[in-house]
Amino acid sequence: MDKEYEVVIIGGGPAGLSAGIYTARARLSSLLIEKEVIGGQAVNAELVENYPGFPEGISGYDLTELMHQQSTGFGLETLTAEVTGIELSREQKIVKTNEGNLFAKSVIIASGLEWAKLGVPGEKEFTGRGVSYCAICDGAFFKEQPVAVVGGGNAAISEALSLTKFASKVMVIHRRQELRATRIVQEKAFAEPKIEFLWNTVVEEIEGEGVVRRLRLRNVVTGEKPSLDIAGVFVAIGFKPNTDYLKSILPLDTTGHIITNERMETEMPGIFAAGDVRSSSIRQIIAAVGDGATAAIYAERFITK
Ligand code: NAP
Repeated sequence: MDKEYEVVIIGGGPAGLSAGIYTARARLSSLLIEKEVIGGQAVNAELVENYPGFPEGISGYDLTELMHQQSTGFGLETLTAEVTGIELSREQKIVKTNEGNLFAKSVIIASGLEWAKLGVPGEKEFTGRGVSYCAICDGAFFKEQPVAVVGGGNAAISEALSLTKFASKVMVIHRRQELRATRIVQEKAFAEPKIEFLWNTVVEEIEGEGVVRRLRLRNVVTGEKPSLDIAGVFVAIGFKPNTDYLKSILPLDTTGHIITNERMETEMPGIFAAGDVRSSSIRQIIAAVGDGATAAIYAERFITK
């Protein structure tokens, strides 16, 4: 491949897409690399109600699709590949991917977060065969079937709400007696007849024959160990930053997020970070979009100075 760009953006979520809108519109040759789905974690949001300009709300999928169209309209190129590392050579940065090397004057890292795993037997084995981390992507496979969602945060409850469109029943399994999700999201879930809650409960094992059939559970208060017959389980217990490929290059905070200043500059000149991957990010689409624009503007100044 060995192509050269002025800006290479790693990650196709709202931070990367908004950076791409700004750099491509500034007439910088720009490439965005995404390893999975354009839109990032935001595509999982059933309804984004707090992004300005959409008083009725908009789905995360539609919002990021519009951002994608806007960025490619300005000339942003996109590549599906996994970045395995970044190397510095004189004036250039070499972005290493499983599809080959790319050369850039500046790099904007917007690689976001990946779903945390339960780490129980059966999770790995049944991923893609009943275990999922994305209700928007996989929910339709479970029409009129019972499914479970693990977690009690905004992501888990949003997933549960979106699954009610397909599933016959949605069982939310939460390790405490109280949800972490914001009140407005909780209210919607409590009013939804298809959603039931299993409190103080953890998943100990995911079982099946070829595909998921049941969960082995444990009540952390009573010690009871019931099993639950389900066709699918959606795990939404938080995230970890996608920064493993950067460990030897950039200073990370204790949780693995990239440390930047207010210009989104990392310690490495010409390398910027934006969005959820950044230390102290508030993990909201609007903040990621702002980070992406900031990173792009300072990347342009870095290149043209
Ligand atoms: P989160 O808020 O950190 O919630 C994670 C949930 O998973 C918590 O309920 C936690 O339980 C549970 N959990 C963690 N580890 C677990 C384990 N090993 N086993 C079982 N349960 C476990 O993460 P999130 O829901 O993914 O949200 C991440 C961020 O994105 C938040 O800032 C959230 O507000 C934001 N977000 C916002 C929206 C929105 O609509 N605005 C939608 C999605 C996400 P405990 O409660 O007991 O800790």
